Amino acid sequence: MIFDGGHPGNSESKARQAPDRRSGEDWGLTPPPGSCIFLIPARTGPGGLANGANHTMQGTVMFIDLTEEERMIQKTARDFARRDIAAVAEQSNRDGVFQDDIYRRLAGLGFMGMTMPEEFGGVGLGNLCLSLALEEISMVCPSTAVAVSVHNSLANYIIHTWGSDELKRRYLPRMTSGELIGVYALTEPNAGSDVAAIAMSAARDGGDWVLNGSKIFISTGDRAGVIVVIARSDPDERTRGLTAFVVEPVFPGFSVGKIEHKMGLRASTTVELVFEDCRVPAANVIGEEGMGMKIALGSLEGGRIGIASQSLGIAQTALDEAVLFARERRQFGERIIDFQATRWKIAEMATNIDAARLLVRRAARLRDAGRPCGKEASMAKLFASRIANEAVYDSLQIHGGVGYTQEFKIERFFRDARVLEIYEGTSEIQRIVIAKKVIDEYERIFPA
Ligand SMILES: Cc1cc2nc3c(=O)[nH]c(=O)nc-3n(C[C@H](O)[C@H](O)[C@H](O)COP(=O)(O)OP(=O)(O)OC[C@H]3O[C@@H](n4cnc5c(N)ncnc54)[C@H](O)[C@@H]3O)c2cc1C
Repeated sequence: MIFDGGHPGNSESKARQAPDRRSGEDWGLTPPPGSCIFLIPARTGPGGLANGANHTMQGTVMFIDLTEEERMIQKTARDFARRDIAAVAEQSNRDGVFQDDIYRRLAGLGFMGMTMPEEFGGVGLGNLCLSLALEEISMVCPSTAVAVSVHNSLANYIIHTWGSDELKRRYLPRMTSGELIGVYALTEPNAGSDVAAIAMSAARDGGDWVLNGSKIFISTGDRAGVIVVIARSDPDERTRGLTAFVVEPVFPGFSVGKIEHKMGLRASTTVELVFEDCRVPAANVIGEEGMGMKIALGSLEGGRIGIASQSLGIAQTALDEAVLFARERRQFGERIIDFQATRWKIAEMATNIDAARLLVRRAARLRDAGRPCGKEASMAKLFASRIANEAVYDSLQIHGGVGYTQEFKIERFFRDARVLEIYEGTSEIQRIVIAKKVIDEYERIFPA
């Protein structure tokens, strides 16, 4: 039973009660595990364009199911989210408390080293598996997904891709085990979308670097065990003057500053990090001096697929909640799910979610195949974050007045969704990225 109590057809109907008693297979209209159809773009091949150009921008259509392994990951994440995370999600979001225990248990299941090789304690899976896990976790608690996404897509990925062997050996096993939470510190008061405006200074002093400045809006920054920080090592170079560092919170000169009180994602802490003559050993430079911009940009794709996956989870829950509520609620003697106005909303939501899922999985598959996916990751993030916001809006509308109360889950998801179009690159920035790639492609095929 999904709802109990009350009697359908009067104002005390079942649909007036918060539908939080679901668990496991009762959850409702989640996507069938496994089914996934996506497109792999073909860059070469005959025909396709009106003037007979020898290249085509059309895609190769491939129908591919999730593998057994991917389904298993999806199910593991789903079961844990619906049983263990669901048990604490409402309360921890209401209290604004990060769930350390949930984080540790996710690590115990392998979710903090999803894309890391086994030699560093990871489970050696791909971005698609990470995306599936993030979607499932976000269906229950988008706040929890923030930490999982940043830790995997940014902190783990950056240290593994660009870090020295020493950095990898020192930090990755403790990150994949969940002992150290990885966070990513890029944003500053005057450097948000404009990464090249980063002002936090990094000056060489003997065997150390000395960092001065502050980072803002850093997710889980107060719980960090490892902080990937991008700072300005050369004030005369705009983009090549940035360097990436691994900072530990125990390094002298580091402290946690202001804690943000946010509209949503309240079980994910968001804080300022302050660096006052913070000494970082030279061995903690990631890559080489001057590579900070390359590292920041190189990690964006994974981060964007992560937030697009979070968007999918939020949108799916919005749809599930809308349908389950509308089946029970009656007005004018009818179930509101039988009104055409409700059905149109459901049709739009479901279609958008399927389209977004195809975009997200295409981007993740491309990344797993080692193919360029900057445009595809931005498309996935742009579209999924937009339709998630539309879905929570429509779902809350279907709920009517009760949707505006904390009794119903949609109120939390409505607040959580808003930031999807802001962090990991705003929607405006995604459009800039997509437009540039599309126009560049035309320039390549039809040189002026
Ligand atoms: C909850 C939360 C968690 C976060 N977590 C992290 C984190 O863990 N680590 C981290 O480093 N950062 C984090 N951030 C910061 C986030 O990435 C930035 O907020 C985001 O990149 C936007 O930067 P900004 O807020 O400075 O907005 P701005 O860059 O000032 O943008 C303001 C507006 O101007 C628009 N705009 C800017 N430039 C252009 C342009 N060229 N063309 C058109 N429009 C433009 C933007 O799209 C936006 O609408 C987080 C933010 C939030 C809210």
